[in-house]
Amino acid sequence: MHEFSGRTAVITGGASGIGLAVAQRLGAEGMNLVLADIEAPVLAQVVRTFEADGVTVLGIETDVSDRVSVLAMRDQTIERFGTVEFLFNNAGVAGGGALLAEADDYEDIFEWTLGVNLYGVLHCIRAFVPGMIAHGQPAHVINTASMAGLIPAPLGAYTVSKYGSLCMAELLAGECAETEVNVSVLCPAFVVTGIADSVRNLPEHLVPTVDASPEAELRANALRDLVSGGIAPEEVAEAVFAAIVDEQCLILTHEGNDEAVRSRTEALLVGRVPHDWVDSPLS
Ligand code: NAD
Repeated sequence: MHEFSGRTAVITGGASGIGLAVAQRLGAEGMNLVLADIEAPVLAQVVRTFEADGVTVLGIETDVSDRVSVLAMRDQTIERFGTVEFLFNNAGVAGGGALLAEADDYEDIFEWTLGVNLYGVLHCIRAFVPGMIAHGQPAHVINTASMAGLIPAPLGAYTVSKYGSLCMAELLAGECAETEVNVSVLCPAFVVTGIADSVRNLPEHLVPTVDASPEAELRANALRDLVSGGIAPEEVAEAVFAAIVDEQCLILTHEGNDEAVRSRTEALLVGRVPHDWVDSPLS
């Protein structure tokens, strides 16, 4: 895809972090923005800022884990802009620790994380991509997975969801191969965003069950430290933009990531389960 001005981008999780940085990058290219996010007050503020900068933007409060909410967002988008040329399946939450972590809320958090990070991607793909294909014009879909979609990072449900997100991008790329729709998957390591504070996005019914033990607090602080040492979301947005223009499928954003992918692949080829990443403060 090489034409951006006047085309429409749908960005889930567009009110913060990587989604917001990609929105800014594409807004600067003259794209219309649809920002779909669950955090309504932050979303409203972001929309006001874009409007003040002269960007055409529609903010839609959306819960991507809820298919009905996604379909309503799709209908509002089509009603306003007619077609969609870029879909960024990016909304995500960092829920879950090691599979054997002791936590009363473990299964609830697992379900929430898969709901947002995995089903959210599925709902958006099924809501938007058939229309993008039928339109017959160059278009692009990107799933935000993670390095945790390529290596077994010790984050339980998060890693499971990101393997799934990467898999859905590969499957979709195959299904779209004979169409004008390109598909990529974004696999960053740590990026300075709000992801370590995902509990702010918990559904109300789960808030009382959240594990507030010292161990859970230690894990949360370890994740905060790692995220705060990451790269800037603007750097990720540049890599995303380049991948759209170059029709690049796998987007690796951090130095050293190639090596991590290579060593996992080599381990698998000799019949080992790679587990170098399991011994971590996050587990
Ligand atoms: P962030 O917390 O800054 O942004 C996530 C956005 O998703 C927020 O605006 C949040 O309100 C929104 N969101 C959460 N639940 C939602 C729901 N149910 N429906 C709609 N919107 C919802 O974090 P981020 O790092 O920018 O996260 C973006 C993506 O990047 C996520 O998929 C995350 O897993 C992925 N990622 C982040 C990092 C990192 O280190 N920050 C690394 C790899 C991958």
